[in-house]
Amino acid sequence: MDTSVSANTKTLKVALLGAGNVGSQVARILLTDASALAARTGARLELVGIAVRNVDAPREVEIPRELFTTDASALIRKADIVIELMGGLEPARTLILEAIEHGATVVTGNKALLAVDGPTLYEKADAAGVQLSYEAAVAGAIPILRPITDSLAGDKITRVMGIVNGTTNFILDAMDSTGAEFADALAEATRLGYAEADPTADVEGHDAAAKGAILASLAFHTRFALEDVHCEGITGVSAGDIAAAKEAGYVIKLLAIAEKISVPTGGQNNDDGGTFTTGVSVRVHPTLIPREHPLGAVRGAYNAVFVEAESAGELMFYGRGAGGSPTASAVMGDVVSAARRLVLGGPGRSDSTIEVLPVLGIDAVKTRYYIGMDAADQPGVLSKISALFAENGVSIETMRQTVHRERDASENGSAASAELRIVTHRASEAALAATVEAINGLDIINSVTSVLRVEGV
Ligand code: NAP
Repeated sequence: MDTSVSANTKTLKVALLGAGNVGSQVARILLTDASALAARTGARLELVGIAVRNVDAPREVEIPRELFTTDASALIRKADIVIELMGGLEPARTLILEAIEHGATVVTGNKALLAVDGPTLYEKADAAGVQLSYEAAVAGAIPILRPITDSLAGDKITRVMGIVNGTTNFILDAMDSTGAEFADALAEATRLGYAEADPTADVEGHDAAAKGAILASLAFHTRFALEDVHCEGITGVSAGDIAAAKEAGYVIKLLAIAEKISVPTGGQNNDDGGTFTTGVSVRVHPTLIPREHPLGAVRGAYNAVFVEAESAGELMFYGRGAGGSPTASAVMGDVVSAARRLVLGGPGRSDSTIEVLPVLGIDAVKTRYYIGMDAADQPGVLSKISALFAENGVSIETMRQTVHRERDASENGSAASAELRIVTHRASEAALAATVEAINGLDIINSVTSVLRVEGV
């Protein structure tokens, strides 16, 4: 006997917008796990309709045809909970605003919309006293937003570092394990369905930046927009960079990093013992991390978020970053949480934005760097380069040299070039930029082949 649903059990009407990869799996869970969901929430979750473009399109799961409609607005007006899984900016934005106006709780996985218009939506939801949840928008199945906003609410987060884009992790991992160049690894990712036909948002880091802005906003109780995120993609990462990183014990990952830092109020290079400004740096860039770091072990298209908090210390959240079923799990977590609140009553819980910390640009960040360069193989090269680093206040941790005798050999057969790879101690962006500029001006340098940041040491 099903004891979870009695005659007195409240019914909550659920409207689903979209029945694609994720929406169809959410419909499956709502239709097949109804009693378990009722037991967990204390309410019957009744799927009242599913808005799609084409009601006759084939679906991945069996869903009664009468649930489908093309009239999303009419569906929203019937609902207590609206789940938006259409994707894209419009009509998703208008429909979410309609749901908020109607007083419905909203659950979405639409990272693209939140990146562009999140602040407007959060404010409208706050003003209307309704809950807007979006666990699925960051790192697919991984429960990361609720741990940050609820479980760690009594702690102080100092840093969040995430592999939050499966496509780029797949590409970098393939380059690391096979020695392939970026273009070949991207072609393989496309062939296997890990990369979209237009991979720009992934490989240029825009998708990771959207998620970085969300993670930073929740971790540091301040609203950050997409334009606050310093963003560099992985298109410039070469097989040579990957091989050099590997040889030095590192792996290259595209990381979204959000951290609270204090800088001298007059700027990073004005460390005169005066006042300090505390702010948040949010950045996405290819990063060398030690192979033994927990993020170094994240393979293929998996995602992971590494959180550092004052009392909890280091935490790592790992799992599938995409896929219909995994993402539906995150959506349903938000739905169950919303249903429980609706059963108990009380206003929607909005994200805390009590701190209003300033955004600190990449210039405020001090980190370690990896620099690869192609130099003439002449006596005194290493000492000239070391002297330039010292003059610019950047201290070298390790320097490796590989001589290429076969390349550019002169007539008498002597070697002509040497590959140098340097890892520095922590330095400011400005000091590093000045060092690289000075190195580029040396006649013994053929080219600076890469400059990458190093984290997790
Ligand atoms: P999808 O497979 O493209 O499905 C989109 C659904 O929305 C389809 O059912 C489509 O209807 C419907 N739809 C689109 N435009 C519509 C319109 N103008 N009017 C009515 N219906 C419309 O998308 P998805 O992969 O499920 O992703 C959904 C959302 O979840 C996106 O915001 C995405 O970023 C997010 N997300 C996805 C994943 C993932 O792994 N897929 C992971 C994390 C987050 P038809 O079926 O009739 O065409």
